[in-house]
Amino acid sequence: MTSEAIPALCGGCLCGAVRYASSAAPIIEGNCHCRDCQKASGSAYAPTLFFPLQAVTIAGDAKFFESIGGSGQPIRRGFCPNCGSQLFGLPSVRDDMIGIRAGSLDDTSAYRPQAEIFTAHAAPWDSMSDATAKFETYPPMP
Ligand SMILES: [Zn+2]
Ligand SMILES: [Zn+2]
Repeated sequence: MTSEAIPALCGGCLCGAVRYASSAAPIIEGNCHCRDCQKASGSAYAPTLFFPLQAVTIAGDAKFFESIGGSGQPIRRGFCPNCGSQLFGLPSVRDDMIGIRAGSLDDTSAYRPQAEIFTAHAAPWDSMSDATAKFETYPPMP
């Protein structure tokens, strides 16, 4: 028996207190190299899948920190208040979407990055795939 159904993508934080699942496929997937994502993640970039907001269910109480994103509009970043794992991004400029950090997926092989964004701020010790599209700042969104 074959099925075209999209398997639910699910994941959660390091301690397991915050879990999530999406019933829809991601809209766009990519690595954000902006300074805020570097600071928040403690890494070279934030690998992120954007899903339709209404397709994602969250169990547990994520804490949200709001700052002004590269768009000039607020973005709220969600993390587990117990273990500190970065999980979500809610950009007010696209309030119909939720970003989810790829490293928090239960199966990280589901992540298929298509683009690198804010590459103007990429760390000199970072390396990028030849297969992804590169954008110096904000990308065109579907
Ligand atoms: Zn946790
Ligand atoms: Zn970013």
